[in-house]
This record gives sequence, C-alpha cells and structure tokens, in this order.
Amino acid sequence: KLEAHNKKLLDLASKDPLTGLDNRRVFNRSLETELDRIVRYDQGFSLLIVDVDYFKRVNDTHGHPAGDAVLQELATRMQRAMRDADLVARLGGEEFAILLTNTTADQAHRVADKIRGAIESHPVPYQDQSIGLTISGGIAQFGPDGGDLRSLIGRADQYLYHAKDSGRNRIISSDSALVPCQA
Ligand code: GH3
Ligand code: MG
Ligand code: MG
Repeated sequence: KLEAHNKKLLDLASKDPLTGLDNRRVFNRSLETELDRIVRYDQGFSLLIVDVDYFKRVNDTHGHPAGDAVLQELATRMQRAMRDADLVARLGGEEFAILLTNTTADQAHRVADKIRGAIESHPVPYQDQSIGLTISGGIAQFGPDGGDLRSLIGRADQYLYHAKDSGRNRIISSDSALVPCQA
C-alpha cells in the first residue's frame, strides 16, 4: 500500500499526466546518464525531436479534447515504434523527444521517417471524426552534431526548424540526403 502510494508520488513528479510518457525533466536526466554510458562504451546514439505540424488547427477544427486524444495516440504510436531500450518523452505541448541508442545517423533517420510516414497515412480516429496529421522532426547524432547535451538538443532543434521551414512533414538530420525528400 505504501509502495503503491510512493509510486504514485514518483509518477506525479516524472510522468506527463496526459500521455504517461516521461516529462522533460526526467528525459534530460536520462540523457545525461546515456551520455556517460556512450562515452564510456563508445556507442552511438541519436536524439530525435518531433513536433506536430499545424497542431493549432487540430484544436481549432476538432476541439481541445480531440487535440488531447491525438497527443495520447501519437505517444502510444511512438512508443510502439521504438525498441524497449529507446526513450520517448513529451517535452511539452505537441513536442516529443526520442532517444535512439546504439544507432548510426542513417539508421535513426530511417526509423524516424518510418514513424513520420505511418502517422501521415493513418489518421487518428476520434469519435465520429478522422483527424489527419503530419509531423516534422530533427535528428542530432552524438559525435558529428556535438558531444554534449546542450549542443545536441540545439542541433536537433535547428534541424526541426529546417524541416518546418522547408514544407513540414519531413525529418531532417545531417545526412538527410540519404532518405528521399518528401514532397
Ligand atoms: P507548426 O506546424 O509550426 O508546429 O504549427 P503549430 O500550430 O503546431 O504550432 P504552435 O506552436 O503555434 O501550436 C501548438 C498548439 O498546441 C498550441 C496549443 O494550444 C496546443 N497545445 C499545447 N499543449 C496542448 C495540449 O496538452 N492539449 C491540446 N489539445 N493542445 C495543446
Ligand atoms: Mg507544431
Ligand atoms: Mg510546437
């Protein structure tokens, strides 16, 4: 009973209440730990930051509760698409972060683009509606894009901005050229 109570308190401090994902604080702490491990064992990792395209329209068109349902569904889909070793977090609003461990930039880009494509082609059902969505994302690779958290997050954000700026519904990383550009 006390254990259950303690778990509840811990969850309140670490989990995003809407999606059940880790919150930004916990994600940042996990990144620090991961970075230590990577440096020690010389393994690769990628940081993916995802933002829903024109999410304001979803709220405006379908209502805020529909928007909430969409965020929950996206969280579920992203978690399902990841291996257990990978971390998925909600950074806030309609922005998510995924830590892909033990991957090359190329592998990470493919995984991210697969998620993007799946979201594009599977609208979220909500009551009697069908809500079509796309996402944009930026990927920073440990090494080429930086060796500390601050620069990696900054880089991923920069790529995300490029993805938005160049038409949305795309993933951008340092080797974006490897994956055919979405029109
Ligand atoms: P862009 O393609 O440039 O990302 O456009 P956008 O409309 O997605 O971007 P913007 O940041 O202007 O809008 C984000 C919206 O997300 C605004 C805010 O009302 C909504 N939002 C943030 N958190 C939540 C939430 O928990 N639930 C719901 N339903 N909406 C949320
Ligand atoms: Mg958005
Ligand atoms: Mg946003």
